Order: sequence, then structure tokens, then C-alpha cells
Amino acid sequence: MNKILTKTSIITGISGQDGAYLAKLLLGKGYKVIGIIRPGQDKKMDGLSFLEIQGRVDFKEINLLDKSSVEELIQDTLPDEFYNLAAQSSVGQSFKTPVDTFEFNTISVINILEGIRKYSIGTKYYQASSSEMFGNIGIENLPLKESVLFNPASPYGISKASAHWITVNYREAYGIKACCGILFNHESCLRGENFVIKKVIRTALAIKNNEMEVLHLGNLSVQRDWGYAPKFVEAMWLMLQQDGFNEYLICTGQVLSLKSMVEKVFEQLDLDFERYVKIEDTLMRNVELDVIYGDNNKAKSDLGWDYDISTNALIKNLIEDEKAYLKFKSALK
Ligand code: NDP
Repeated sequence: MNKILTKTSIITGISGQDGAYLAKLLLGKGYKVIGIIRPGQDKKMDGLSFLEIQGRVDFKEINLLDKSSVEELIQDTLPDEFYNLAAQSSVGQSFKTPVDTFEFNTISVINILEGIRKYSIGTKYYQASSSEMFGNIGIENLPLKESVLFNPASPYGISKASAHWITVNYREAYGIKACCGILFNHESCLRGENFVIKKVIRTALAIKNNEMEVLHLGNLSVQRDWGYAPKFVEAMWLMLQQDGFNEYLICTGQVLSLKSMVEKVFEQLDLDFERYVKIEDTLMRNVELDVIYGDNNKAKSDLGWDYDISTNALIKNLIEDEKAYLKFKSALK
């Protein structure tokens, strides 16, 4: 009888939005999932509990800035697939802590790739790159393609661009099976509280329940390519199932202003946008990308990944997921 081999995957950033959804996807495919957390970090994670997979992840406490711990992890586990999602992921925060952001988002990547190079050359590696690496691109480059040069406009974008090129360099120099997923904004109820769409949905629901009176926002004219996180993590897995290793834009191909997104949220909740949304000058950023959206044709044709969720369906999902998440959180109290 053939023995069914369980594949081992490592996910860094397991406590974050994408870590939770990716862990759920991989467990569903029969993988063993090792989740990397910071030393001393509480292993009870709301995202994993909400998705009902908390008890199925094997946690390891590793400081990703500590080269020897990272190498030991790789040597001991010899993972089939390594998904590197851990990062200081907020653009706004990166202006406040540029050194920490740059250090963590780049050195952790070198440590992991060195570990793979030395001890587990067959491990397939996924790097969480970001559309923020493109930065101030001219409008003539839209929709963005994989071939457009980066011109990052924040410490976060710069750190991600460095990590991206480190990954490409390890693939070219040592033959490491590494892919970079250049993901555009993707949202869910597990998104960090400091991200705008999460704030919009949460506050709109609170207004609907008479718990808040107003939603304060900054620049509403920015235009983005907004997607649904559970669908985006599928592309991460697909990238590592190919024979070739490459870079892919993962995006919806649609663009919408923040104002339109907020109007649609308020419309779906039957709330008056003009009455409840107030612009706050202090929430405007010094440097802001006006418009950014991508072309997902390479991912579609090479990976067979397709994004078929309309903006209205995305917003409906986000509202329903947020309601379920709020219920889950209140049951914890
Ligand atoms: P989150 O911010 O939700 O999660 C980030 C994860 O990184 C958390 O698990 C966090 O752990 C961990 N982390 C942050 N700093 C450190 C540190 N110093 N040491 C150890 N762990 C750390 O991000 P997402 O899940 O949304 O994104 C996943 C990846 O994809 C990130 O690399 C992000 O930059 C990138 N990305 C995300 C996009 C999006 O729209 N969501 C778009 C493009 C790229 P802890 O809980 O301990 O803080």
C-alpha cells in the first residue's frame, strides 16, 4: 500500500491576517503547518481561533532576526514549503519606525534564505512582496505589470523591494525555488485594526448599532485595487506548485476610490454617507500614492488563479465576516 506523505509547511506571520487564512487553506489540503511566533508570544490567536484551526497548528517560537535560530529551525524541520509572511506591514507605521521596519523586513528574509541555502535546498520559498514597492509610478504604467520598475515611496515599500530583490538574487545565485507574490490590498475581518477598510467596516457597523456617531477619514480620493484575503492566499499556494519559480502580481485588476468604497459600505448598511463621514486633515499622509492597480493576467495564465469577486460582493463578504468576528470576540469576553 502506498504511504501518503504529509507535506510540512512553515508559515511566519501566522498571527496575521494572511497567516491565518493560509494556514486554514494548507490544513485543508492535508499539510502539517508549523506557525512561527515571536519568543514569549501568546499562542492563543484570535484569527486562528475564529477560523477554528488554533489547535491544529504546531507553534515554534523563533526570533527571525536571530540567524542561528532560523537556521536550526530549517535544519530540524526540512520543510517542503516555507511561506514568509511576517513583516511590519503598515505603511503609516513604517514612517514612525523606519529602522525597525527596514531591519525586520529584510534581515529576516536573508536569514531564512541562508537557512534554506545551507540546509534544505529543496524547500520551496514564498516571499510576501507588495504593490507598495511600485510607489510613485507614472500613470502611463497602469495597470501595473510584473515588468514595471519599482519606485517605492515609503520605508515599508523600500524594505519590501529590498526583500524582493534578495529573494530573486537567492533564486538566481543558488537555484533556490523561490517565488515572490506581489500582492495588492486585500482585506478581511482579520485585517489589522489600523488599516482603512477594516476601520470603515467596523465603524459603519458601530454607527448602525448606535455605538458610534461618526467615521473620521483622511484622503478619500486615493484609488486602489481592493481584494478579498481568503482568495488571495490561494495564489500563494499555487505559486509553489509550479515547475518554474517566478514573480506574480496578485490583484483584482479593478480600481476604485476610497470614497466609492466607503459609499458602497454605507449604502449596503442603509446609512447616509454625507451625514456620518467626516474628513480629518490630521489623517492625511505626507506622501500618498494617488492611484495604483494591476494586471493579473500572468497569474491567471500561469497559475490558473482567477479573481471573480465583484466589489459589491467583496463588501458584502467583509460586512458579514465582520459581524461574525464581532460575535466571536464578544463571546470571548
Ligand atoms: P499582518 O500585519 O496582519 O501580519 C503581520 C505578521 O507579521 C504578524 O503575524 C506579526 O506578528 C508578524 N510580525 C510583524 N513584525 C514582526 C516581528 N518584528 N517579529 C516577528 N513577527 C512579526 O499582515 P498581513 O497578514 O496582512 O500580510 C502578510 C504579509 O503580506 C506581510 O508581509 C505584508 O507586508 C504583506 N502584504 C500584505 C498586503 C495586504 O493587503 N494585507 C498587501 C501586500 C503585501 P505579531 O502578531 O506578533 O505582530
